[in-house]
Amino acid sequence: MSVTHSFRENRSRAEEYLSRYAAGTIGHFIDGRWESPEDGATFENLEPAENQSVGNVALGTEQVMDRACEAAEAAFLPWASMNGAERKKLLNHFADLIEKRADEIALVESSDCGQPIRYMKQAALRGASNFRFFADKAPEAGNGLSLLQDHHTNMTMRVPIGPVGVITPWNTPFMLATWKIAPALAAGCTIVHKPAELSPLSATLLAELAEEAGFPAGVWNLVHGYGETVGRRLSEHRAIRAVALVGETTTGSHILRQGADTLKRVHLELGGKNPVLVFDDADLQRALDAVIYMIFSLNGQRCTSSSRLLIQNTIKEEFLSALKSRIGRLRVGHPLDPETEIGPLIHTEHMQKVLTYVEGAREEGAIVAAGGNRREDLGTGNYVEPTLITEASNDMRIAREEIFGPVLTAIGFDSESEAVTLANDSAYGLSGYLWTRDTGRSMRLARQLDAGMLWINSENNRNLSSPFGGMKQSGIGRDGGDYSFDFYMETKNICIAHDTHSVPVLGQ
Ligand code: NAD
Repeated sequence: MSVTHSFRENRSRAEEYLSRYAAGTIGHFIDGRWESPEDGATFENLEPAENQSVGNVALGTEQVMDRACEAAEAAFLPWASMNGAERKKLLNHFADLIEKRADEIALVESSDCGQPIRYMKQAALRGASNFRFFADKAPEAGNGLSLLQDHHTNMTMRVPIGPVGVITPWNTPFMLATWKIAPALAAGCTIVHKPAELSPLSATLLAELAEEAGFPAGVWNLVHGYGETVGRRLSEHRAIRAVALVGETTTGSHILRQGADTLKRVHLELGGKNPVLVFDDADLQRALDAVIYMIFSLNGQRCTSSSRLLIQNTIKEEFLSALKSRIGRLRVGHPLDPETEIGPLIHTEHMQKVLTYVEGAREEGAIVAAGGNRREDLGTGNYVEPTLITEASNDMRIAREEIFGPVLTAIGFDSESEAVTLANDSAYGLSGYLWTRDTGRSMRLARQLDAGMLWINSENNRNLSSPFGGMKQSGIGRDGGDYSFDFYMETKNICIAHDTHSVPVLGQ
């Protein structure tokens, strides 16, 4: 895999892979065909390590999106009627193709979104395993229950809901797209994918693989462009039965509004301001490693990042001082360098936003205990120092809003109840992390904390069968395992009489 190669080797192979995107327009994939806009309208795709162009991308319009939705609609019935075993075979074949191009996927993804290659080398393999996991479930996805009564039997079955829209963000675009598309296709839905405009390359690669795998035309459609135009149109379109969005909370609200007239089913995986609670009885070394990993891996651009450290005051000084010295040793650098631990942020505007939060923290009276600046010595890329904010209070913006960058805000607490109050005093409720050796406390807090997902004495550990999703303004719905099929399928109830009951008689 890429990480075993040197920086120089990674760069030269990435350049080779990226050169073909620079050569022409990166097109839409609709109804089995690649297309570029007739009027030549495109937008430029910049990579974040040097802010150089990596090609022009077709700028989707409402008309283009309409055609994609209609293609998904036309392909739906044949795809939904294909038997599950055949779908399983095709999805597994698709996973094989992902694995064959794993190296390319890792390098393209890392170059396009700035995530360090040390993490992205897993992206393709995780994407493939998402497909294999749901492929295996395809033959039985329609199964239901049999509910016996004296005179009737109720039987449930699941059928695919219809064409679905999949709208994804830029932070780990390949993995997130596969996480949504795999269960949708396994369920028998057709899809229209609208990837983030800031990271269009791995979505393009996925559509190329879909073509190579031989999915029937219209089963997999890809439209590039802006959220406010093509994303909106996708969530409004009458042919689309459900929309799965991974994105910001405000985007989730837009989707709800835009989908209201056609009563879209929605699954929203949104932002977070996730607390990590460290009690003084915890294994502090493991806690320290996990706290650092969960905020600084993936450049802090991670929905489940533990961006609020709630630390018991008895160990606060000791823990923060260890944290500070480790932060000082984190390696910020080019995403293709295998040594890099923190890469550039996705876009200069996003970098500015992150830096503005740090400035705001100073103005509100918090201390910037580590980092806080752009790494100008690294050139023109969007590099930001890993940052620790201390002496913060939970009412400061730095503690309330999702920053989506390598910035950790630390707040002290005295008691268990104070820790819970602070943790829950947030508009969000995506994930939480709890560090304590006290099992009773773990169980109490598991019930009390507002989090769709809680990890106890662990960093984020993903199990494909487990439910993934958030509470409050972090989202609506869950996916993972059978939860995904509940979203991408309709449950029908069929009630069959045993011919033993009296049918009510009127008009005799
Ligand atoms: P974003 O909401 O700006 O964009 C996400 C997608 O929505 C993009 O494809 C965008 O074009 C599209 N979009 C924007 N406006 C739209 C509209 N009006 N209608 C339809 N589509 C629209 O998010 P982002 O900046 O790309 O990604 C970062 C966000 O994603 C963060 O808030 C992060 O927490 C969240 N995220 C959540 C999870 C999770 O599982 N909860 C996972 C990863 C990222």
